[in-house]
Amino acid sequence: MVKHLVAAQNDFFATQKTKEVAYRKKYLKKLQQEILDQEDVICDALYADFKKPKFESLATETQLVLAELRHAIKNVKNWSEPDRVGASLLNFPSKEWVQPEPYGKVLIISPWNYPFMLSISPLIGALAAGNTAILKPSEFSPNTAKIIAQIIRKVFPPEYVTVAVGGVEVSTELLAEKWEYIFFTGSTRVGKIVYQKAAEHLTPVTLELSGKNPCIVDGTASIKLAAKRIAWGKLINAGQTCIAPDYVLVHKSVKKALVDELKKNILQFYGDSIEASQDFARITTSKHYEELKTMLKGQKLLFGGNYNDEDQYLEPTLVDEPQLDSTIMEGEVFGPILPIISYEDESELDDYISRYPNSLAFYVFSNNKRFQKRMMGQYSFGGGTINDTVVHISNKALPFGGVGQSGIGGYHGKYTFDLFSHHKAIVKRATWLDVPLRYAPYNVSMKWIKKLKYFF
Ligand code: NAD
Repeated sequence: MVKHLVAAQNDFFATQKTKEVAYRKKYLKKLQQEILDQEDVICDALYADFKKPKFESLATETQLVLAELRHAIKNVKNWSEPDRVGASLLNFPSKEWVQPEPYGKVLIISPWNYPFMLSISPLIGALAAGNTAILKPSEFSPNTAKIIAQIIRKVFPPEYVTVAVGGVEVSTELLAEKWEYIFFTGSTRVGKIVYQKAAEHLTPVTLELSGKNPCIVDGTASIKLAAKRIAWGKLINAGQTCIAPDYVLVHKSVKKALVDELKKNILQFYGDSIEASQDFARITTSKHYEELKTMLKGQKLLFGGNYNDEDQYLEPTLVDEPQLDSTIMEGEVFGPILPIISYEDESELDDYISRYPNSLAFYVFSNNKRFQKRMMGQYSFGGGTINDTVVHISNKALPFGGVGQSGIGGYHGKYTFDLFSHHKAIVKRATWLDVPLRYAPYNVSMKWIKKLKYFF
């Protein structure tokens, strides 16, 4: 089945059809229309998978994807044009340009936490750049995977775009094939497997992985606003967000005020009975749900801690000063649990932050410009926000991605088009002049050779 799909996509790519910008645009528009028509059905599927609130489904899944589509449809012609560069004097007379071209067949593997957006968003760039694609959504958001498969089947011929539904076995089968590009979003553990499989064919990859994202609140921060923005960034999607703040490092002088405000905001967002709120999602997989419950064992709680196994509800929970060797401080906290750790002196911060290299996101709440600048400059992380959380993902002019442990490559907007394009360098020489200096015998041009560096 996989072999057959791969062969069909190879044959289709060879027809050169996807190199026509009008063809790409036609299908991006069809996809746009189908998503618009199915927006409610997509939201229903997300609700069925993990009770994702409709507002969050619109804001973080369908509308983000529609914004990417609008942008790609508007700009694909322009992006696909050859980009003329200044000609080198060494080639005089010549014209020189960069020609973006598609790689070929692309494999996109996506996770369950933003299952619609993280599948379709990279697909848009892959298609805008002229590739064909096979999409493998997560098996842990089966209702969303089903609607994605339906939409794709309706819009595209399978030799152009296909969805392969299934779990690890399907991924493994797909990864055994040769791809011209692999785009993976998921855990760092599986990212390493994907990278190894890609290396066998020297296939370029984008790996959108995970990290333990620090959120620092210093003594000068606007605490009310910081608490509101941290609570929002942590609790949207029930904390199952790769760029959610993972743990808070707060200056001792403002810790109590921050914790009080966090509690106040949680209750304001969801009311006294959070479990009954329509605005708070559930933990999607039983594995993650159990892991999160285990993280709470033996911890001192400042708020929350309740859960309900029936529908994998986990209350927003604030953990007070966890031990650094406890499970909650070992890996990523992928749920609505926020460890709060206090510090007294700036010099202590590095001990925490450097324990977890290359976070995917990084947050600083401070009104001290020197501190903001130092924090943003000192550490290597995917992307970050000063005085807010998560929102750096919302601007398509900013590349979204990790570095080191948290990933390879950045996308969104034109960055996605560029990522899925090979940038071919072309020089067109004129024939009316041929400066003879490069040809042997070299004795004539020897006196010029040390001036060569001025002509590159
Ligand atoms: P995961 O790595 O378990 O799975 C991701 C995808 O890989 C799924 O489609 C799954 O079927 C497939 N897969 C799983 N095991 C595999 C294997 N052995 N071989 C081949 N394929 C395999 O991740 P997840 O649990 O679905 O998602 C949560 C993780 O993703 C979190 O760590 C989160 O931080 C990360 N994430 C990162 C981003 C980002 O943009 N950087 C976005 C969302 C989620």
